[in-house]
Amino acid sequence: MSILIVGTTALDSIKTPHSENPRLLGGSASHAAVAASFFAPVNLLGVVGDDFPDEYIDLYKKHGIDLTGLEKASGNTFHWEGEYEVNMNNRQTLETDLGVIEEWMPTLGDDLTDKDYVLLANCAPQLQHHVLKQMKQPKFVVADTMDLWLNIARHELEALLKEVDCLVLNDSEARQFMEEDNVVVAAQRLHKFGPKYVIVKKGEHGSILSGPSGLFIAPAFPLNKVIDPTGAGDSFVGGLVGYLASHEGDIEKNLRQAIIHGSVTASFCCEGFGLAATTEATRKQIDQRIEQLKEMIAF
Ligand code: AMP
Repeated sequence: MSILIVGTTALDSIKTPHSENPRLLGGSASHAAVAASFFAPVNLLGVVGDDFPDEYIDLYKKHGIDLTGLEKASGNTFHWEGEYEVNMNNRQTLETDLGVIEEWMPTLGDDLTDKDYVLLANCAPQLQHHVLKQMKQPKFVVADTMDLWLNIARHELEALLKEVDCLVLNDSEARQFMEEDNVVVAAQRLHKFGPKYVIVKKGEHGSILSGPSGLFIAPAFPLNKVIDPTGAGDSFVGGLVGYLASHEGDIEKNLRQAIIHGSVTASFCCEGFGLAATTEATRKQIDQRIEQLKEMIAF
């Protein structure tokens, strides 16, 4: 079954202690769409400006991503600039220029509103809600968010969450949202806003799922070298939704496998700048890492 993914289609300028990489292909929807494309057909919904390079369009195409919903508008593409500290975990946002996505409220054609799986990748909750309202009868809706939206659009985020099946956010955001230091407690309390499932991402320390049958703890795939973790969270959620869309049946039953597949897909993202390593990965390599991870956590 196919997936609709909406979010940012961006140009990312990423600084690390060792290098500077201006205007790479990035954005929450780009990372999520490429990750999901390993598992299921993907429709990308986004907007780019006239500065968006053709080679990035070709990269989406290489992954078989349907671009019917990708608009080109006059103006600048969303641009994000971030800098990592030596440990490659802590990062600072240096600049966020919303560009053409700031005013963008798309009207979806019939060919997009009938998708069963909807991934509202990280972007303004108003835009996420606007898209969700147009979907006819989605089977499973996942939303990702970040601290910026908690700070400036909390009310809109809470309104959205009433209609979402699964919320994904990182540990500091879960703490901030619930004003609760204990992340396990924060995850469980987040259900009261609507989502049946809450997944808290903890970077290199994996993730926690809270759902009707309790908690599930998933590890991250251990890497010897992290080049650039930008987009790992988006790749995680893309891989997760991709896996669900490719496995019919009970969501509850498939969700643990989906999280592990998301986790492993995200590990490839960290091994190169931007999408460089993800785009070189293969489904076979993903499956191999799944097997390796299984052995590492069996006891
Ligand atoms: P992650 O490393 O998973 O947190 O995702 C980083 C990606 O999110 C980058 O490719 C950015 O372009 C994108 N991004 C950064 N800030 C925002 C924002 N405010 N809204 C949507 N996407 C963003």
